[in-house]
Amino acid sequence: MYNGPIKKMHLEITNRCNAACPACPRTGDFKGKLAGHMAMSGWHDLTLSDIKEIHKEVPTLKEVNLCGNFGDPAAAPDFFKIVNYFADNNIRVIISTNGGPRTPKAWASIARPGVKAQFHIDGDEDTNHIYRVGTKWNKIMANAQAYLDAGGSANWTLIPFKHNEHTIDKCEELANTMGFSQFKVKKTYRVGNNDSTSQPIELPTNKKYINEYVHKNINRDINCKARNEDEIYISADGDVAPCCWTGSNLWQEKYKNPKSPKSPSVENNYFVDFDNNFRTNKLSNIIDSYIDKTDQYEVAWECKAFAVCNKSCGTSKWLDRYQDRS
Ligand code: SF4
Ligand code: SF4
Repeated sequence: MYNGPIKKMHLEITNRCNAACPACPRTGDFKGKLAGHMAMSGWHDLTLSDIKEIHKEVPTLKEVNLCGNFGDPAAAPDFFKIVNYFADNNIRVIISTNGGPRTPKAWASIARPGVKAQFHIDGDEDTNHIYRVGTKWNKIMANAQAYLDAGGSANWTLIPFKHNEHTIDKCEELANTMGFSQFKVKKTYRVGNNDSTSQPIELPTNKKYINEYVHKNINRDINCKARNEDEIYISADGDVAPCCWTGSNLWQEKYKNPKSPKSPSVENNYFVDFDNNFRTNKLSNIIDSYIDKTDQYEVAWECKAFAVCNKSCGTSKWLDRYQDRS
């Protein structure tokens, strides 16, 4: 299903995280704030040795996105070694983090060319923790400042809610003072699941912070992001999927809690009628298996057969994602 050799990888190097954001799929509905599939899966990490194996199989790699569905990459045991490995090999690294894990000194050590960090900070000292439950403001600020002072490139991305929309201009000012290269406001539909925070998580009142396409639900032809960008996704347990969305469905199906057997991905099963774990099957074989299925994917997209593809690449919700700050 790809146009050429794989150039990009979205890597979930861990499913660990210090936070419990209410609308994150890792955050669940019982005390302890982990979803049933997380309790079933246990902890998983990609190690530096896994990363070297992956790179050996895909030498065409140009860019990696350290993000994932269920964890913060900075919480991975080999996080700093992995970032340095990619930078040493001239592979661009993008890191998405809540900024809380690890120490300022360690963050300063990865401030180097080819590395870009995205700090997801949703408000000021009084409001960030309302969505980023469990994070500590002083720790985030110290980590970000140390990384920036060491010459690191980073942007501050903020998700607006009713409880933090009044802080947006103040946060932008702080971002500029600290030395962030960009301040982004990411419009969101992430609301609900309020039991892990003392305050309801509601959409902002100012309409300019709301992505209107999400609510219009406009269907369009499926435009596969993975194929367009020659990108593949590897989850923390080593399963390989075309993208994080299909990867999330596969994970939640694989580790579903038998006590709540709702299956999110039954319609997705034919993506995985081969061994899709790089620890038990060569990564190049797995990529070939996806390429062999190109015809089937195209039929499925045309028929709108896969809910995950319809939702992620067959609507207009990814348009108008960021508020214009110019
Ligand atoms: S910081 Fe990221 S991975 Fe962690 S709970 Fe929040 S959204 Fe999920
Ligand atoms: S959700 Fe489907 S269409 Fe979108 S990138 Fe993934 S595989 Fe492609």
